[in-house]
Amino acid sequence: MASRIRSLVCRECGTEIPVAPTHVCDLCFGPLDVRYDYAEVARRVSRESIDAGPASIWRYGDLLPVDLDDGVPPVTLGEGFTPLVHAPNLGAELGLRNLYLKNDTMNPTNSFKDRVVSVAVSWARRNGFSTIACASTGNLANAVAAYAARAGMPAFVFIPSNLEEAKVSTTAVFRPTMVRIDGNYDDVNRLCSELVDMVPWAFCNINVRPFYSEGSKTLTYETAEQLGWRLPDEIVIPIASGCQFVKHNKAARELIDLGLVTGDGARMPRLTGAQAAGCSPVATAFQRGETHIVPVKPDTIAKSIAIGNPSDGSYVVQIARATGGVVDSVTEEEILEGIELLARTEGIFTETAGGVTVAVLAKLARAGRWRGEETIAAYITGHGAKTAEVLAGRSTLEEPIAPTVRAFRDRFGERSQAAAAPRPGAGVSG
Ligand SMILES: *Cc1c(COP(=O)(O)O)cnc(C)c1O
Ligand SMILES: [Zn+2]
Repeated sequence: MASRIRSLVCRECGTEIPVAPTHVCDLCFGPLDVRYDYAEVARRVSRESIDAGPASIWRYGDLLPVDLDDGVPPVTLGEGFTPLVHAPNLGAELGLRNLYLKNDTMNPTNSFKDRVVSVAVSWARRNGFSTIACASTGNLANAVAAYAARAGMPAFVFIPSNLEEAKVSTTAVFRPTMVRIDGNYDDVNRLCSELVDMVPWAFCNINVRPFYSEGSKTLTYETAEQLGWRLPDEIVIPIASGCQFVKHNKAARELIDLGLVTGDGARMPRLTGAQAAGCSPVATAFQRGETHIVPVKPDTIAKSIAIGNPSDGSYVVQIARATGGVVDSVTEEEILEGIELLARTEGIFTETAGGVTVAVLAKLARAGRWRGEETIAAYITGHGAKTAEVLAGRSTLEEPIAPTVRAFRDRFGERSQAAAAPRPGAGVSG
């Protein structure tokens, strides 16, 4: 049988090399991407074959770089196939009738990173690695620790020492070796890039990055499938390294070229990026009309996307421009309001990265970017419990009352009358 997985190809100079655990081109240092034999992929994949697959990212196995033909199962915790929810209440506030939220908080470790790590660990285990590692802003460490435990492999996770408490404890429970670094993510990543040549480990986002990053595509495959095999008109995506943004572009292209999406659902979506103003090197380059990224020192509560020197930043700018999207940024206060707006209108609690996404969506909507009929998908990539501390002091609890009807009536009498009348329009659809 012909192999689906053909080679690694340099994004800059187009040189093709055999599949191997390496992520930069020897000739020009450009990043490497997995190239498939699409004739072979097309022979295997169809809407029906996908529909018959598991309710996880592995339903798109024919478009992932792990060769499952030998019957060895992937390392999975049921990641992906998360809900795509129509958002009528948030949509009404923003004047968007066809707004959808891809709720990736529902993944096994509550962030989108489970998609990429399932692919990376599955690839690494089949390709001779016995230890998994990563440089992380938090969510990646969390996912690596869980999937390594699942695979029965040791893990080394490298993290900045100032991470949110919840991200540390939800990672530590899986018992990886946690290497806390006095420094920010860019320092952590630099250290790991030196270590990668000295230890025989699979660093998810370094030497096995070409395979790891392919897992991101499933978010866009699912969005299209859940819309009835149509791509949305625009997607709003949070940007850290820009890795997933670039892969959503690839995913949309693949769906179109393979004929999995059809009609007016087979147009390239506009891809729009979201950053925190406290770490917005990509938004800055976009606004200046440049592709060169000037690194910054991150200072934001959106720690999971605080990468000051994003490796895929210039590709994000190019793709946003080519598809008609934009890259914008929001302030710390806007991020918190984004978290609260999403929670209040749709009952979804997201972490700061999701607050960035919702806030950029709201900012663009209020600035009149859309007419209102467009189908817009916003990727909500991580759960709010992971960064709950940022909300400290934002809601004040009333004093407790005595457990008597009288005490209840005294305090809540008027409010209970008002609550009896339904709010117009609330809960009528979706
Ligand atoms: C890692 C991460 C992202 C973005 O990742 P990229 O490095 O741009 O691929 C977005 N949201 C959350 C919650 C993340 O953990
Ligand atoms: Zn090259």
